[in-house]
Amino acid sequence: MKLNKLVRNSIRNLAQKPSFTVSRNFRSGGVEKESADCVVIGAGVVGIAVARELSLKFGRNVLVIESDSTFGTGSSSRNSQVIHGGIYYPPNSLKACFCVRGRRLLYDYCKEHGIPHKQTGKLIVATRYEEVPKLNYLLNRGNENGVEGLKMMEASEAMAMEPQLQCLRALWSSTSGIIDSHSLMLSQVGEAESHGTTFCYNNTVVGAHLEGNQIYLHISETESLKNWDHKSQQHPDILLLPKVVVNSAGLSSAALARCFSGINRGVIPPSFYARGCYFSLSNTRVPPFKHLIYPIPEVGGLGVHVTLDLDGQVKFGPDVEWLKPIDDVSSIQNKFDYTVCADRAKKFYPEIRKYYPSLKDDSLQPGYAGIRPKLSGPGEGSADFIIQGEESHGIPGLVNLFGIESPGLTSSMAIAEHVATKLSRF
Ligand SMILES: Cc1cc2nc3c(=O)[nH]c(=O)nc-3n(C[C@H](O)[C@H](O)[C@H](O)COP(=O)(O)OP(=O)(O)OC[C@H]3O[C@@H](n4cnc5c(N)ncnc54)[C@H](O)[C@@H]3O)c2cc1C
Repeated sequence: MKLNKLVRNSIRNLAQKPSFTVSRNFRSGGVEKESADCVVIGAGVVGIAVARELSLKFGRNVLVIESDSTFGTGSSSRNSQVIHGGIYYPPNSLKACFCVRGRRLLYDYCKEHGIPHKQTGKLIVATRYEEVPKLNYLLNRGNENGVEGLKMMEASEAMAMEPQLQCLRALWSSTSGIIDSHSLMLSQVGEAESHGTTFCYNNTVVGAHLEGNQIYLHISETESLKNWDHKSQQHPDILLLPKVVVNSAGLSSAALARCFSGINRGVIPPSFYARGCYFSLSNTRVPPFKHLIYPIPEVGGLGVHVTLDLDGQVKFGPDVEWLKPIDDVSSIQNKFDYTVCADRAKKFYPEIRKYYPSLKDDSLQPGYAGIRPKLSGPGEGSADFIIQGEESHGIPGLVNLFGIESPGLTSSMAIAEHVATKLSRF
């Protein structure tokens, strides 16, 4: 039996820390077992924030298991890097509450830790008369959600701010901004590591089972999973027995939960995936916009919008492209297609020209793509985040995070606060 050295070494390192208890190397059924305090599955921006919160604020020892070779390679590095105000989401939904709270925490964190960011502000624009009432609806919704700094603008005022913009009316959100999400994750990884978190890369959680109330997490080296398919069961390299598990596996968190035997499967939501592609602007020496520009939201996304990076460069996206279903094993192996098909630009030009009529032909270049972990399919309306504990699935100490799509980056620190508090009794 090949033993997963990385996991064992990580656990050994943890075991040398005074408050960490490990019951070493007892064997059963030929698979090595190790105890642990907290395990976070997935080192995306949310998993990292959860690990930081558990270790820094609650003094827990945390092992983060990440299937890739480093942190933040999933949706957390394939997004618009926008700090959202919190306008769009139904009042009292998790998205609304965590976005507003998370945004405040994030700005404070960026200021305290020197994370590159900019509170650019954002214009949501109506370009057709029938869209104007939708702006009023968004203004009311934002006010209900407690979003500060919202203001309705006449076209002249918005177009004076942004001379390349064409619109009939605009909703100004002064609290929206942009962030360097890699710097954020790097900073929080560092803080977590110095407070009792160990990151264990190249290892995949392939399933779990229960013995009494104890979760046994099945872990294999990612490298060894190449031939794993949905017809075969993966024999783990090691079993981890944690007190607390946070399933923050992003796109595959629901697929992974379906591989946990003993869980109430009826409460695990279905998985849908919607790719969003970005195109960058070439042939333009001076960026045409200084603020984020968003159209009225569409089904499944916020519409092909203008995002800016911290150097002022402009990109457009993401669109919404529903992907064919993939089986759970392929999802856990991250077999997602992130190709940006150059042909999609054809659909971008007319969308962008609604608010940026002077967009030149052939000026869009394929950029990158991200994939949204959707809990509802095409035409079903948007779903809220799901943060699921024992009360739903029946397993003490396990929290599943499902459907952490946008505004997950903005919400990450608020989600972490919530999850760590939820687990404080274990
Ligand atoms: C196109 C797009 C645009 C977006 N724009 C914004 C935005 O502007 N603002 C905003 O606030 N939010 C935005 N979001 C949402 C935001 O990016 C996500 O909500 C956030 O990154 C989710 O972080 P995460 O940690 O949950 O997931 P991820 O970043 O996907 O991390 C999950 C990690 O789990 C690992 N993993 C998976 N399965 C396993 C396993 N079995 N074992 C071990 N590790 C595993 C993966 O390798 C991955 O590293 C956008 C999302 C997309 C797709």
